[in-house]
Amino acid sequence: MTESLARVPWYPLVFPLFYGALAVFGLLMARHLRVFSAARPVRPFSGVPRRAAALVRYALVQTRMFRDLRVGVMHYAIFAAFVLLSVGVANAVSGGLVEAVLAAPFDGAPWAAVLLGRNLAALAALAALAYALVRRLVVRPARLTLSRSGILILLLIGGIVAAELGALSYEAARYGPLPGAILTNAAGSALAGVDPRLLEALFAVHWWAHVVLVAVFLVWLPTTKHLHVVTSFFNVYLRKLEPRGALPAMDLEAADATYGLRTLGDLAWKDVLDGFTCTECGRCQDACPAHATGKPLNPKELVMGIRHLADAAERGLPVIPGSPDVRARGGALDDGPAAAAMAIPLVPGAISEEAVWDCVTCGACVEACPVLIEHVDKIVGIRRNLVLEESRFPPELAPAFRAMESAQNPWGQPRSTRLDWTKGLPFDVPTAASVAAAGELDRLDVLYWVGCAAAFDERNRRVARAFATCLHAAGVRFAVLGQEEACTGDPARRMGNEYVFQLLAAQNIETLRRYGPPRIVTACPHCFNTIASEYPQLGGAFEVIHHSAFLAGLLDEGRLAALAGPEGPTARRITFHDACYLARYSGVVRAPREVLGAVPGLELAEMALRGRQSFCCGAGGGRMWMEESRGTRISAERARQALATGADAVAVGCPFCMTMLGDGLAADPGNEAGVTTLDLAEILAPVAVAGPGAPRRGRELPMLP
Ligand code: SF4
Ligand code: SF4
Repeated sequence: MTESLARVPWYPLVFPLFYGALAVFGLLMARHLRVFSAARPVRPFSGVPRRAAALVRYALVQTRMFRDLRVGVMHYAIFAAFVLLSVGVANAVSGGLVEAVLAAPFDGAPWAAVLLGRNLAALAALAALAYALVRRLVVRPARLTLSRSGILILLLIGGIVAAELGALSYEAARYGPLPGAILTNAAGSALAGVDPRLLEALFAVHWWAHVVLVAVFLVWLPTTKHLHVVTSFFNVYLRKLEPRGALPAMDLEAADATYGLRTLGDLAWKDVLDGFTCTECGRCQDACPAHATGKPLNPKELVMGIRHLADAAERGLPVIPGSPDVRARGGALDDGPAAAAMAIPLVPGAISEEAVWDCVTCGACVEACPVLIEHVDKIVGIRRNLVLEESRFPPELAPAFRAMESAQNPWGQPRSTRLDWTKGLPFDVPTAASVAAAGELDRLDVLYWVGCAAAFDERNRRVARAFATCLHAAGVRFAVLGQEEACTGDPARRMGNEYVFQLLAAQNIETLRRYGPPRIVTACPHCFNTIASEYPQLGGAFEVIHHSAFLAGLLDEGRLAALAGPEGPTARRITFHDACYLARYSGVVRAPREVLGAVPGLELAEMALRGRQSFCCGAGGGRMWMEESRGTRISAERARQALATGADAVAVGCPFCMTMLGDGLAADPGNEAGVTTLDLAEILAPVAVAGPGAPRRGRELPMLP
C-alpha cells in the first residue's frame, strides 16, 4: 500500500465496497446481455482498421460533439475527467498498484502527470457540469429530455469530482504537497494553520465520499442513459461499414425468416445495443425534417423505445443467456420463454404506425448521432414487415407499387415513351442496343442512366436534354438504355417493398451486364446510390458517377468550357440545395459547386443547412408518392430556407428535389420574384462549349433505324 492510501482510515473496507458494487454492475449488465443473446445474430466484426479509425475519431476525439463547440468542450471536459479520475479509482481499489508503477520511472514524473491531469480535468469537469445543469434547467433546449435521473447523475458526477478535489486539498494541507497536484496543493496551502485533526477528518470524509459515490455510480449506471459511457465505445466500433446508403440485404427465399422487423426479437443485437447507447441528446430529433415540420416521427423516440422494450423483455428472459430455446437455428426464435419475452411488437411499442411512414430516409438523424446509431435501417425494416407480411401501407402507395411492377416505373408510363425526352435535340442519342448491334460498345465512354423522372416527367426531361447537350459539347461518346431501362427500385425498397425492388434490380443488373458499360453516369442521386451501393448485394458491381462529378471532371480536364457572354445564365445569385442521397449518403459535396463555379458571372449564396447537414426536400423514402397531410410541407420549409439566401434561383442535382422544391417555391407567398429550380446541367448547358481538351468529333455512334 502506498503512503497516501495508508493515511485513509478503514482503508481495507474499500475492497468489499468497490468490488461488491462492481459485481452488481456486472449482474445488471448480464441482465442486458440476455436481450442481446435473444436478438437476431449478426457479426459486425470484420474491417478492423476502419473500425479502429472510427473509434478514435468518434469515441475518443468525439468529432461529432464538436459540431457545437460549446457542447463539445463541455462533454469532452467531463469525458477527460472520467478517464483521469478512473486512474485514481483504479489506484485506490488496487491497493496503490497504479501509483507504485507510475511513481517508479523518471523520478515519479508519470504519477505527477496523472495527479496534474486529475486536478485540471476535475476543475474543468466542475465547470462543464455547471454548464450542463444550466442548459437542462434554465436554457432547456427542446431536443434534451429533462429527467430526474439525468439531473441526479450529473449531480452525482459533480459530487465525485468535488470529493476528489477536496480529498487531495485536505491531504496536501495535512501532509504536505503532492507531486504534480498544483491546484489542490495551492488549496492545501491556503488551509495552513487549520487544526491537523480537522484536516485529517475532512480528508477521510472526502476520500470516502469519493469512493462511495463511485460505487453508487457503478450500481446505478446500467439502468440509466449514462450507460453510454460504456456502450458507446462498442457501438462506434461495431458501426455499419457498408455504404451509408445501402439498406440491409434481405433474403426473400429464407424459409423460416420474418420479413423485416415486427418484434423486438427481429432486431439484431446491434440494434439493441443502439438502444442502450442512446444518450438522449436529441440531435437526431433536431435534424429530422419530418419532426421539424410537425409530423409524429421522432427518431430519438424510436431508439429510446427500443431500449424501453428491451428493458421490459429482460424480465421474461431465461437466466442463462443463450439457453437452447434462444436462436437455436440462428433464424427465428423457437417457442419458449425467450420467444415470448421478445415478442413485443415494435409498432406501436417503439414507434407509431403513422410515424413509420413519415420518414423520408434522408439520413440526417444518422449523420447527427454522436454515437453512430442507425435509424433508417430500422424504419425501413419495420416498413418491410408492414408491406410484405401485413400489406399495411398508405393507400396512395398501391398505384406506385403496381406501376413499378407492371410498367417498371412509378409513374406507370409506357416504356415506349422512355426516349421522348430526346425529341428536338440537334444530335442523335444512341441506345446501347444500337451500339452493340454495330459492334461498337468498346467505343463508349459512358452509359447515361436517364432514370424514370427524367424519362417521364416533363420538367425533368429538360434536365436530360441539358445534360446530353453538355455531353455532346464535350465530345463524350455516350449511349442510353432507352426502353431497356427500368426503375432502379429505389422507391420500392425504401417504401418497404423489397420484392418489387429485387425484381427491378435483377432485371437492370442483367441488362447492364449485357452491355458491360465502362462507366454509368446519372443525374439522379437515388439511381446513383442504388446502382453503386445496393446492386452489389445482388451481384451487380458497376462503376457509377453522378452527373455533377462527371461534369466537374469534364470542366477540369478542359473537355468542356463555359462561355461568358449574352448566352450566360439569367440568374446571377444561385444557392445550391444538396440532395440527401448525393451529399449525405454519397459524399458528393464539392463537385456541384465546382460546376457552378465554372459558369462565369454566377455568385453562390449558401444555405445554413448544406452539404452533409442539408435539409431534405421531402421526396425520399417514397414520400414523393405519399400525401403529406400533417404539419407543414417539408418542401415548403426547404424553399423558405432557400429564399432566405436572396438567391435568384435554386440549383439542384436531383430530379426529385427539382419537383419538390419547385412546388415549394411556387407555393411560397414570399416568392414574389418567381425564384425557381434549375438543374446544374441546365445552368451549364446554355454556355457549354467544347474545351481545348475535347476530342475532335469523329464518327458518331450508330443509331438503330
Ligand atoms: S431519415 Fe430523415 S426523416 Fe427519417 S427519421 Fe431520420 S432524420 Fe427523420
Ligand atoms: S439516437 Fe443518437 S442523436 Fe438521437 S438522441 Fe440518441 S444519441 Fe442522440
